[in-house]
Amino acid sequence: MDDLLAATASVEELRGAPRQVLVDALRDAVESARRRILSGEALDPSVGSVLEDATARVALAMRPSLRRVVNATGIIVHTNLGRSVLAASAARAAAEVASGYSTLEYDVDSGERGSRHTHVESLICRLTGAEAAFAVNNNAAAVMMTIAAFARGREAIVSRGQLVEIGGSFRVPDIMAESGASMVEVGTTNKTHLADYERAVSDKTGLMLKVHSSNYRVVGFTNEVSLAELVDLGRRTGVPVFEDQGSGVLFDLSPFGLIDEPTVGASVSQGADVVSCSGDKLLGGPQAGIVVGTAEAVARLKKHPMARALRLDKMTLAALEETLRICLDHGRALREIPTLRMLTAPREEMRARATRMLDRLVACASEGRVVGEVLDEVSRAGGGALPLVDIPTAVLVVTPSGTSAAGLCEALRLACAVPIVARIKDDRVLIDPRTLLDEAEEDYVVDSLVALLGGE
Ligand SMILES: *Cc1c(COP(=O)(O)O)cnc(C)c1O
Repeated sequence: MDDLLAATASVEELRGAPRQVLVDALRDAVESARRRILSGEALDPSVGSVLEDATARVALAMRPSLRRVVNATGIIVHTNLGRSVLAASAARAAAEVASGYSTLEYDVDSGERGSRHTHVESLICRLTGAEAAFAVNNNAAAVMMTIAAFARGREAIVSRGQLVEIGGSFRVPDIMAESGASMVEVGTTNKTHLADYERAVSDKTGLMLKVHSSNYRVVGFTNEVSLAELVDLGRRTGVPVFEDQGSGVLFDLSPFGLIDEPTVGASVSQGADVVSCSGDKLLGGPQAGIVVGTAEAVARLKKHPMARALRLDKMTLAALEETLRICLDHGRALREIPTLRMLTAPREEMRARATRMLDRLVACASEGRVVGEVLDEVSRAGGGALPLVDIPTAVLVVTPSGTSAAGLCEALRLACAVPIVARIKDDRVLIDPRTLLDEAEEDYVVDSLVALLGGE
């Protein structure tokens, strides 16, 4: 081991490695060589070959675990790949406050302590028409906090048609239990009527909850009580109404061909006491849970102990503030917020991009090594949003020779410096340009395909 350690001085990649990482890598490399010799494998047991193995191990140990990937799936708010990509200026805003001191809880005018909520409150209010607002760690947190604040030790009424799982096995009945509310279910899976709610309201009721079907649909013989009807009942009985809006649409996306997902502002104008949504689904910002509502309800939430435990950090607040500011101008939002740009880009644009990729592929690959074509397909919003919406797209379809589609997909993930995540359909690999961020990513995907499948 001493000899090996001394020898590492001559290897550029090992010189700066932390000692513990280096020692572990050398020990593992020696152990691996020993095992292979004992198993009868003929191999070069020299110091040089052990160092080579150790160098690969050090590189792996020092490689970030959370790192960039290229999303070629066409699933825009891809939960496993980090949901929304921030607008460039939002990412810059986060980096700016991360690398210096900031006004996080400081009022420059008075020189006194300020509140971290002020940075986003007036923007959210302007965008939604709400009286008051703030943001917490994510929408799941916002839902838990709201139920706890209004219905801990009391009853919360919810329709059986809305007892859903909202991702990561986070389920409405579990949230109710964790928030300390007794859940009162009304109606049935497919139909719930206002009379069902009316019968359930009592002096023990703390809250009526409506979960917007952002990630599921009940279709067929159905009835749901509208938010306006619930608000009316709430006013008559003195029970606050909370809507979990989910997806976080701030302005009408239906002119862009997306089915009309109701906006947060629409729920506010119907009179809900509290409305919550995610920051990183269709809003296209950082992970956050946005809570809006009446001044009274929001003041109560801000004072709740869970608000402190679930509060946002400065980087997220900076990115959220900038994303919201971009949203003040809808045209700018559609250009600069990647999620909104991807959701609304037309098929023709995707066809042009896929065709450019195919041309490059054909030009670079050896004759007959890669068979590709451009076909019409559909992209998905993902993230449990707009579940029924097919977004028309065009994709580059690659039929690999000498390997299966699964084999090629694995190579795209494992053999590329930045892993490429693609989709498989009918034993062919689909590259959807919709979720590729720019031409550089398109070229990177094509060049990787050529390198894997054979170039000149
Ligand atoms: C996505 C979603 C949530 C959870 O939001 P997160 O930001 O993932 O915590 C809650 N409710 C609804 C209706 C949702 O669509």
